Amino acid sequence: MNKSEILANYDNYVIPNYSRHPFVIARGDGVHLWDTDGKRYLDLFSGWAVSSLGHCHPVVTKAMQEQAATLVHVPNIFYSEPQGRLAKYISGNSFQGQCFFCNSGAEANEAAIKLARIHSSKKGKYKIITMKDSFHGRTLATVTATAQPKYHNGFAPLIEGFAYVSFNNLKEIEDAIDDKTCGIMLEPIQGEGGINVADKEYMKGLRKICDDNDILLILDEVQCGMGRTGKYFAYQHYDITPDIMTLAKSLGNGTAVGAMETSKEIAGSLVPGSHASTFGGNPLACAASAAVFEVIESEGLLDNATKMGNYSFEQIRNISKELDVIKEVRGIGLMIGVELKIPAAEVVKRCMEKGLLLNCTHDTVIRIMPQLNITKEYIDQGLFILKDILKTVN
Ligand SMILES: *Cc1c(COP(=O)(O)O)cnc(C)c1O
Repeated sequence: MNKSEILANYDNYVIPNYSRHPFVIARGDGVHLWDTDGKRYLDLFSGWAVSSLGHCHPVVTKAMQEQAATLVHVPNIFYSEPQGRLAKYISGNSFQGQCFFCNSGAEANEAAIKLARIHSSKKGKYKIITMKDSFHGRTLATVTATAQPKYHNGFAPLIEGFAYVSFNNLKEIEDAIDDKTCGIMLEPIQGEGGINVADKEYMKGLRKICDDNDILLILDEVQCGMGRTGKYFAYQHYDITPDIMTLAKSLGNGTAVGAMETSKEIAGSLVPGSHASTFGGNPLACAASAAVFEVIESEGLLDNATKMGNYSFEQIRNISKELDVIKEVRGIGLMIGVELKIPAAEVVKRCMEKGLLLNCTHDTVIRIMPQLNITKEYIDQGLFILKDILKTVN
């Protein structure tokens, strides 16, 4: 099928709820993507941090091929080896909890919200506090949890029982808590909000407030988890442990998969029949995700994310000294936000024309999230293009 036929299929048969760039991506390999015109793109965004081992990593591909030829799906009335193996990886690299599997970030957060409520239902608590500029997904409950009005428009009435406070502000949390509050939910690093990093004292303060008030601390690590910050999970930079953590995006390096982990004690509240997902934890997704953990270990990618993150920040800060248009550089590891003094969409578009994939978030922030096994060579290539374009708008 040629490009115009493919675009025509979308025009005719696909709901236009995305604004798409007019390229048809045909193939990916490592840090590169190719479109149907044969143009190559250097991908330093990894599709919202999903393809965090690069496109079509051979170990993940092999795990999927073997699993696809063995067993793709069994319902959760049975056991299968990959689901248990993946749960053990998540648990062993975090806080020794137990996992529920689903198929996306929104579903993982939906599960977290439901768990917080059912766990607290005997105490009559149901309210959840979330942060302004957060992003938790597009189902009705998770979009309600997402405290950004632009995601709410047209979907009223939203779900009851959510309250919004400013990120990194403990005082507002204290004021917002009442005897019905069962959870505080946040991203340790806000992704869609513009790469906003939680302060250390703030996270510790939240943990204490939750402990003192019998409230569950829910961390959404859908974007910042799985090695992105140089540790498996972003909360591990803070010397605290959440009660519930959610994962998705890079968990399966592109395979649709989501997970919610919680302590064994809290997990007991999700009794049989209370929550479920038909596809959740299927052998194919879990085999791919388990392979992701194996590659992170075998290739030393936490270490690489730290090193390449430091290198990137150093290089970008050098650029920012030369270019007045850069307002601030933020993030941890390979989760990088470059805030401009002007809207960033046009810059990102021009990078794309030059064959570099980045993203614009929160209007003025260029978001850079390379694969965890990125090398200096590709960071340099990408920043060379970015700098060139920033010069023209400086
Ligand atoms: C992308 C994202 C979600 C939603 O994930 P989906 O898979 O699109 O449902 C939730 N939380 C955060 C922090 C995200 O970045």
